[in-house]
Amino acid sequence: MKLPYAEPYRIKTTEAIRTSTREERERWIREAHYNLFKLDSDKVFIDLLTDSGTGSMSDRQWAAMMTGDESYAGASSYRNLADAVHTLFGMPYFLPTHQGRAAENVIFSALLKEGDIVPGNSHFDTTKGHIEFRRCSAPDCTIDAAADTQKELPFKGEMDLEKLERVFSENPREKIPCCVLTITNNTAGGQPVSMRNIRETAALCRRYGVPLLIDSARFAENAYFIKTREEGYADRSIKEIVREIYDHADIMTISAKKDGVVNMGGFVAMRDKELFTRAMSFCIMYEGYITYGGMAGRDMNALAVGLMENTEFEQLDARIRQVRLLGDLLDEYGVPYQRPAGGHAIFLDATRILPRVPKEEFIAQTLGVELYLEAGIRGVEIGAILADRDPETRENRYPKLELLRLAIPRRLYTDNHIRVVAAAVKNIYDRREEITSGYRITFEAPILRHFTVELDKA
Ligand SMILES: *Cc1c(COP(=O)(O)O)cnc(C)c1O
Repeated sequence: MKLPYAEPYRIKTTEAIRTSTREERERWIREAHYNLFKLDSDKVFIDLLTDSGTGSMSDRQWAAMMTGDESYAGASSYRNLADAVHTLFGMPYFLPTHQGRAAENVIFSALLKEGDIVPGNSHFDTTKGHIEFRRCSAPDCTIDAAADTQKELPFKGEMDLEKLERVFSENPREKIPCCVLTITNNTAGGQPVSMRNIRETAALCRRYGVPLLIDSARFAENAYFIKTREEGYADRSIKEIVREIYDHADIMTISAKKDGVVNMGGFVAMRDKELFTRAMSFCIMYEGYITYGGMAGRDMNALAVGLMENTEFEQLDARIRQVRLLGDLLDEYGVPYQRPAGGHAIFLDATRILPRVPKEEFIAQTLGVELYLEAGIRGVEIGAILADRDPETRENRYPKLELLRLAIPRRLYTDNHIRVVAAAVKNIYDRREEITSGYRITFEAPILRHFTVELDKA
């Protein structure tokens, strides 16, 4: 008989998690103003809020923590991380930051001025926040197919080159300081971008003299999809594919909390020395001296190891198989989600799962609360609350998709946990006709409201 699949690691340390009753959860979620971000984590059984900073580090990463060099300047940990950055991405200059948005803050401080235009394929929320906060605009040039949740495309996160070229040709070059290509495309469902699209986006940028910035949170997963789905890459290693991707980039920002498999960290890297010199000052002001930025020496060490380990095929394969398992179970139960399964998460199609909740009552948020009540599972809304208000009109923006993201942390949960999640979603789907109302906002912050929003039953 053919042997079944098993993960390429075993578990050395465990962490207890607690179950709860439905009554307890009803009270807790009310006290949290129906905002899952406001729940204490010990009130959650299976936490799929994010795969950011929540993965399990390897024994080698923990060992590297112990040899961290906490010197203020010129620490060996910095050099270890610099080696990994140069080896993997080929970028000559880099600045460590405490996480991805800090890298955005540093580089956009050096690059953007009021009124600028920064096109991209579904900018991540903090990226868009940093752009709009500087009174710049972030036109979305994602392919239209990304918004069709049922369409099966191998690379559904791509840049629409015609849309991008329109932005380039209709605006003066000096108004476009860079173009942001996000791999994988988080906002569109963790969907990858092909090497072909990366190459063509880079060529278009070059033709118009616009630097290409790759937002790289899930670069390794994107490379996995290129290897397994794009013609001509099956025999290339993940590291070779990563290097080829970054040969097309001028700048990269990264949240290391995802594919770096660390709890905290990030960096911005670039080829241009003059840009580095400008960014350096912002790093020193906002983050820290240039050889540690926002990171402790031990964390830079763990990241250096994490980057090298998580660009091995077997590690990525184990992870993406688990995401796929959740998708396969939902298929079995007929529950609609963003197809095909993404790299780091399943995005439940809330509009189809809860067809009777009006969009003004935040459909995906309603599904998130239901899933918590059902089994203590925490997902995150990717819908109208996240889409926030239009900065000009202050009207609510209703996005094309109302999704509930179930992000799978790396190496954290077993397949049994995944089975509980699938069953809980099925139970909600089975009683969808009974769920007819959602929530209304009682408090919201002027920017990035989803983190702190407060709600009540509509
Ligand atoms: C997570 C993420 C960021 C922001 O990184 P943080 O570490 O959360 O600050 C930016 N872009 C993308 C695509 C991300 O996934």
